[in-house]
Amino acid sequence: MLPATEQPVSQASQQSTEGNCRFCGEALRHIFVDLGMSPLCQSHIELEQLNCMERFYPLRVLVCDRCFLVQLQEYVSPQEIFGEYAYFSSYADTWLEHARRYVDAMIERFKLGQSSQVVEIASNDGYLLQYFVKRGIPALGVEPAANVAAVAVQKGVPTLVEFFGEALARRLAAEGRPADLVVGNNVLAHVPDLNGFVEGLRVLLKPHGVVTMEFPHLSRLVEENQFDTIYHEHFSYFSLWSVEQVFAAHGLAIFDVEELPTHGGSLRIYAGPTVGTVRRVTDSVVELRAREVEAGYTRLEHYFLFGERVRRTKWKILDLLIGLKRQGKSIAGYGAPGKGNTLLNYCGIRTDFLDYTVDRSPYKQGKFTPGTHIPIYPPDKIRQTKPDYILILPWNLKDEIMNQMSYIRKWGGKFIVPIPEVTIYS
Ligand SMILES: [Zn+2]
Repeated sequence: MLPATEQPVSQASQQSTEGNCRFCGEALRHIFVDLGMSPLCQSHIELEQLNCMERFYPLRVLVCDRCFLVQLQEYVSPQEIFGEYAYFSSYADTWLEHARRYVDAMIERFKLGQSSQVVEIASNDGYLLQYFVKRGIPALGVEPAANVAAVAVQKGVPTLVEFFGEALARRLAAEGRPADLVVGNNVLAHVPDLNGFVEGLRVLLKPHGVVTMEFPHLSRLVEENQFDTIYHEHFSYFSLWSVEQVFAAHGLAIFDVEELPTHGGSLRIYAGPTVGTVRRVTDSVVELRAREVEAGYTRLEHYFLFGERVRRTKWKILDLLIGLKRQGKSIAGYGAPGKGNTLLNYCGIRTDFLDYTVDRSPYKQGKFTPGTHIPIYPPDKIRQTKPDYILILPWNLKDEIMNQMSYIRKWGGKFIVPIPEVTIYS
């Protein structure tokens, strides 16, 4: 028998280790999906680090039974994660086009001009603000990763190397730089101090100001089985229902919403101060709210079905890869995105299945995928080695990638897309 101090902990104390909801503070008791242990998805390994120990953290996602916010505990600080971020937005053509169209639409809709102020939070390499700058509209980026911020500054986009929160918002407002438009694409989900961040949005906005935020939509994650979009950097997984509650608690009302195809299905919400300009709530908000309630996002049981589907998907992916290797086929990866690293680690896919992967970002080339240590080459490697199959890891860009790589069909090469269910495209 174990000594008393080594007895398994009680169910109650195990539950308390899951922490509290980052929005409403309720104790978290329910698992949404458990993807095991994984390293940080952007911590690509250098050649000389291959034999060193790597840090793995739990990828266990919980759901709050009071506000239904789906969330991951903050196992790793944002400083550690985002200090030197490897994702340069400008390497994806479709994302640049998305940004350009957004800028044109916002200038038109909210009548932005030379006396307006636009602030983008997590402005990355200036991929979006560059289009405001070109139109002569004052723009300011806020980006904590110094290496990507430096690229933005070179493009002529003024950028503060900082994390956004209430303190920075108060400083900017006090310096006479309150915003007509605050933009945040793929940042809201990455914020551990959600309440401080959303409070900061309200503080930074002029009374008639508008904030737009894009983030992956929880219902698309669930319905399309996008479990690989779960990673340590991604702390919160929002429905319209849950994000409306968070914004309302900080004096912001969501008046419009768009459903976008980006990142596997995102929402773009439009919000303004509840004490500012009153804006009519669009039908799309009313309709999406109703659709989420109908689908079950305000009932706890609905959240319990996902984990089982994810396990079954893992078995199917491994079935296919094992079958192909038994037939002697060669398989390479395409891309080394964050989502790819969740998939590879959760499924245990290493160089026993994938000979290598390729990525257009020079920052990742010559390195190895975290945890699974698959070498990353420039895309030309595929032309040189002619693999039988290519596993597309950034499946949200699969059409663009299959188009770029269509030459693999010359040697009979085929594409594998793992999500929502593993599919071969010849
Ligand atoms: Zn909660």
